[in-house]
Amino acid sequence: MISVIIPAYNEEMCIRPAYDAIYSLLSANNIDSEFIFVNDGSKDATFKIITELSTEKENVTGLNFSRNFGKESAISAGLAAASGDCAVVIDCDLQHPPEKIVEMYRLWEQGYEIVEGIKSRREDKKILHGIGAKFFYFVISRVAGFDMENSSDFKLLDRKVVDVINKMPERGFFRALSYWVGYNKTYVEYDVAERFGGESKWSTWSLLKYAVSNISSYTTAPMQIVTALGVIMLIISAVLGIWTIVDKITGRSLEGIPTVIIITIFIGSIIMISLGIIGYYIARIYEEIKGRPKYIISSTVKSIKK
Ligand code: UDP
Ligand code: MG
Repeated sequence: MISVIIPAYNEEMCIRPAYDAIYSLLSANNIDSEFIFVNDGSKDATFKIITELSTEKENVTGLNFSRNFGKESAISAGLAAASGDCAVVIDCDLQHPPEKIVEMYRLWEQGYEIVEGIKSRREDKKILHGIGAKFFYFVISRVAGFDMENSSDFKLLDRKVVDVINKMPERGFFRALSYWVGYNKTYVEYDVAERFGGESKWSTWSLLKYAVSNISSYTTAPMQIVTALGVIMLIISAVLGIWTIVDKITGRSLEGIPTVIIITIFIGSIIMISLGIIGYYIARIYEEIKGRPKYIISSTVKSIKK
């Protein structure tokens, strides 16, 4: 059986079409399935529709978050609730083509433990959003050491992988975690479709916040940049120091006020940026150490199997 995990935030228009499209494809291919909709604190009728669906159909579970916790948390909750032999995470808006699930499933049957969906192109209406996404993937690909530009959350995972990810206590970044765990992987390319209905939940600002928080959850490279900056500053100051002493000895000492001001400002800003980066990591440690749950499920609905 395959567990289909669908995070949904204000997707009242998409729940039924997503279920119908995916379910009809899977049953046409004789693939047994369960659907887990995670309502991430939607302000519209999303959970009402999920509830209706769970009473009409035989294989629908709905988890209702107490507020919006974000897509990463919704994926975690879905994975924790999945009982299938494999699980696929797919967007509610049908931007991930459902027919690819069948392709992924066949690859899984051949023994692959992770089947990644890779975007063959990305359609963005907002240019800034596009630049934001580009920048994010450029940076994270660099610091993480692997190409994340075209990766997505559209993935099929074997039971073993789901269990491993469920055991990870940290607030991870799903895409990066599924890379980090290793296992036998393969890829399926897909074209990003137009959104079925509603609108994208990402503003450029939220994308930027997402970028910063995911980079810091995945890597400590920015802290090493602080060390590197310190070393560079030390070298510069050694050179300037020698220069000043030589000038002093040869009596060419200039009125150095502008130089002093520039150096002070320069060092000051580097120290502040460095403190900021370190502070960011301390904040994350604080968040983790509080040990709060990644999400709160306020209610659950489940189909009664006939
Ligand atoms: N989503 C979510 N919580 C959020 C934001 C988004 O569960 O806080 C879900 C959303 O319902 C959809 C998926 O994540 O199923 C992708 O969101 P969206 O289509 O807005 O992102 P985009 O496709 O523009 O990257
Ligand atoms: Mg979308």
